[in-house]
Amino acid sequence: MYNPSSHKAAEFIDHEEVLASLAYAEANKDNSALIEQILNKAAERKGLNHREASVLLLCDDPAVEAKIFALAEQIKKDFYGNRIVIFAPLYLSNYCVNGCVYCPYHLKNKHIVRKKLSQENIVREVTALQDMGHKRLALEAGEDPVHNPIEYILDCIKTVYSIKHKNGAIRRVNINIAATTVENYRLLKEAGIGTYILFQETYHKESYEKLHPTGPKHDYAYHTEAMDRAMQGGIDDVGLGVLFGLEGYRYEFAALLMHAEHLEAAFGVGPHTISIPRVKRADDIDPNAFQNGISDETFAKICACIRISVPYTGMIISTREGKKVRERLLHLGISQLSGASRTSVGGYAEKEAEDDNSAQFDVSDQRSLDEVVRWLMELGYIPSFCTACYREGRTGDRFMALCKNNQILNCCHPNALLTLKEYLEDYASPETRAIGEALIERELPKIPKDKVRQIATDRLGLIASGQRDFRF
Ligand code: SAM
Repeated sequence: MYNPSSHKAAEFIDHEEVLASLAYAEANKDNSALIEQILNKAAERKGLNHREASVLLLCDDPAVEAKIFALAEQIKKDFYGNRIVIFAPLYLSNYCVNGCVYCPYHLKNKHIVRKKLSQENIVREVTALQDMGHKRLALEAGEDPVHNPIEYILDCIKTVYSIKHKNGAIRRVNINIAATTVENYRLLKEAGIGTYILFQETYHKESYEKLHPTGPKHDYAYHTEAMDRAMQGGIDDVGLGVLFGLEGYRYEFAALLMHAEHLEAAFGVGPHTISIPRVKRADDIDPNAFQNGISDETFAKICACIRISVPYTGMIISTREGKKVRERLLHLGISQLSGASRTSVGGYAEKEAEDDNSAQFDVSDQRSLDEVVRWLMELGYIPSFCTACYREGRTGDRFMALCKNNQILNCCHPNALLTLKEYLEDYASPETRAIGEALIERELPKIPKDKVRQIATDRLGLIASGQRDFRF
């Protein structure tokens, strides 16, 4: 039954194969010879399959865990260097016809305030986001064919890309909307989106159906096969994710890796990103009502095991997590994070009134973008506002080939420095700017190729004298 190349959810996420992987992990979690072999394979930076990775996830030997954590940090550095890509979510609409039991946007929630941004609202929101320094957004919306049809989403994308305010511009729009048709994915691609992100929530079909009792999202196969349709519609950068806390994490972990293997097997391109959200408190949602919550320790291990299993993928952590957890995960493979996020509809231009709550979940990291940028630099990372890859056609298999050959770093490192420079010139506080200028000075000589270093040096000068937007 298990067939990673099949386009049928039941075959590429074969339930029996997930269970067999968990049994294999259980049987081998103390098999030190096998574990050594798996760790050696991971150290070759070619990834692990879902069975091998499941063994490591289950092994609780502290010495093995220490090796997994060290390897995760090293692999992130090898593939992406010390740059961390920054983005913000923009909630377009919380109208939703689904019944997802973990999400406050569910149809039966009558006390949450329903809002939808008009194109004028979007101009205000995006202007506020540009004034912070953001260049990359993830557009989010509930599923509602009447309030949020694809035409509305396309209009929003167009509006976002059209807004040029002072030196600001949103240069990459990623999209996180419900599973849709090949034709709609084609329209999204034509509208110039970066990544199409869709969280699976849970790969466990029976639980999935209970957690999504009503609405179009109830259809497990349609949801799970969405990335296949997105790829068929020409979107070659897709982002996976599981909402941890809903189902047993070992099941989700094995199945998530099977999904990544499926995309590789069927399309020759693995996931561009993997997100690892956990269920959070929200309007009428109590995370403690779910039986499968995971500790910070387990969460860290999951993050590290994903990183060493799928070394080429970008890994995203949102403001669902607070500073402490984010800091830990940065060391374990995270390559992108959101900053200064609002999960309400219309929360950037104006703070939402307390009794006017339209938020999807409570944000744990409330810091400003300036604070997040400074914090990253103090930890030794380069905050990056780069969006060059998709603008230069480095998507799908082209991106993956560069990444797998360790060449993406040659683009990421200089572009991170240049976009950081733009940020420092245009938006940073004096303190952040001073830290950033010193960091650029330290990092510039590390660009290995003389020619690239020279180009970067010249462009830093141009940015300082007011030039912007070199298609980063
Ligand atoms: N409606 C789209 C869909 O069905 O995929 C867009 C998704 S929604 C705007 C973004 C994600 O937020 C969801 O996929 C879900 O994983 C997550 N989410 C929903 N409720 C949450 C909660 N209480 N805590 C944390 N994340 C939540």
